[in-house]
Amino acid sequence: MTDADVAELKARVCDAIDARADDIIEFAKDVQSEPELGYKEVETTKKVVSLFESLDLDVETELAITGARARVGGENGDDGDDSDDEFVAAVLGELDALVNPDHPLADPETGAVHACGHNAQLAHLVGTAFGLVEGDAIDSLDAAVEFVAVPAEEYLDLDYRRSLVESGDIEFFGGKQELIRRGYVDDWNMAVMMHAGSDEPERVVTSNFSTNGFVGKFVTYLGRESHAGAAPEEGVNALNAAMLGMNAVNALRETFADEDYVRVHPIITRGGDGVNVVPAEVTMESYVRAKSIEAVGEANEAVNRALRSGAMAVGGDVEIEDFPGYMPLSTDQTIIDAYDDNVRDLLGETALSPGQPHLAGSTDMGDITQLVPGIHPWTGGFEGAVHARDFRVVDEEMAYIVPAKLTACTLIDVLTDPEAREQLRAAKAEKRTREEYLDAVRDFRASETESHLT
Ligand SMILES: [Zn+2]
Ligand SMILES: [Zn+2]
Repeated sequence: MTDADVAELKARVCDAIDARADDIIEFAKDVQSEPELGYKEVETTKKVVSLFESLDLDVETELAITGARARVGGENGDDGDDSDDEFVAAVLGELDALVNPDHPLADPETGAVHACGHNAQLAHLVGTAFGLVEGDAIDSLDAAVEFVAVPAEEYLDLDYRRSLVESGDIEFFGGKQELIRRGYVDDWNMAVMMHAGSDEPERVVTSNFSTNGFVGKFVTYLGRESHAGAAPEEGVNALNAAMLGMNAVNALRETFADEDYVRVHPIITRGGDGVNVVPAEVTMESYVRAKSIEAVGEANEAVNRALRSGAMAVGGDVEIEDFPGYMPLSTDQTIIDAYDDNVRDLLGETALSPGQPHLAGSTDMGDITQLVPGIHPWTGGFEGAVHARDFRVVDEEMAYIVPAKLTACTLIDVLTDPEAREQLRAAKAEKRTREEYLDAVRDFRASETESHLT
């Protein structure tokens, strides 16, 4: 295609998105009004499916308990590159809310609320579908485009997810991890999503960064109860063991290299049951995060050693259970170069915010980018920090409409450029296979007991 053809196609697609702007915003608010936690997004999935079906797309549901996908194009086209395999571009949106009962829009029963802007991601997902399908662009792309509504990005509600693991319904807490395990990601050549910017009310975009990976941890200290006043000498204080363990973790912090971005942030989830009884069981949760899989592994080993020391000191027991967390995110240069060009075109030269090259938070989009070239830009239009009670949309067009245009135009640029497609195929070949990925995440599943209770 000539540059003029590409420009004409992008204009047509953006017009198609604008023509649906009211529907997209109404959909985003509808999702916001009924927030659901991960692997429970039944109604939210139905809302996405109904818009996909309004475009006559073939929809597959229950990808991983919830979730839906619809694929268009690709089958008839003569691919724009030399490979025999069809080129597949995935567009992702996350279905789940998080828990913050203090947020004014929180569900009064569950505390669930879209305070991470995932409803905007879904608006972006359906908006991109409206643009490419109703803008009549699919046949010009010589590729399949798959629209995917993904379950369970927030790593929370863990008792429920552990019950799903125990019943064999899932293996992983993250929805994208489950999609990978189930083979949905195998033939993707690229993956695009967007995320609400934290405290970013302006029309700006932060596009190029990496994020931390992590391992999730459940810790149980066991002691022996006794009367806290009359006979503490007969007890073994599990809370003291936990505090010593946590302080031992704190003593490690100076040993973490700055460039590894290690974050360890334990909480006590049960600290004792009655103030006049020596605590016999104290539970904690934590993540151990770092920039690379290797650094997560090294920090995790040290943290577990430190946690064991608390049990040893008081003569108690400790059980440590590690669950795979999320993998570090890498941003693909080929896709992000096209994305940044479209940010400049649509929002102006100054709209690209440099941001930080590495963010110490985590997302299971990181897991996707272990296998497939992908991007995860943060887009503006939102006030308040993500997850906080004051997080809200302040610019509906920027939050809900512009991201769809950015993604649709980026797909047009990349898919009509044979060189970009070759670069993406080469980039994917350098990444992990599904089996290699599964080996790496499963390595983080472990449980150990340190026993000193007599
Ligand atoms: Zn979040
Ligand atoms: Zn989020």
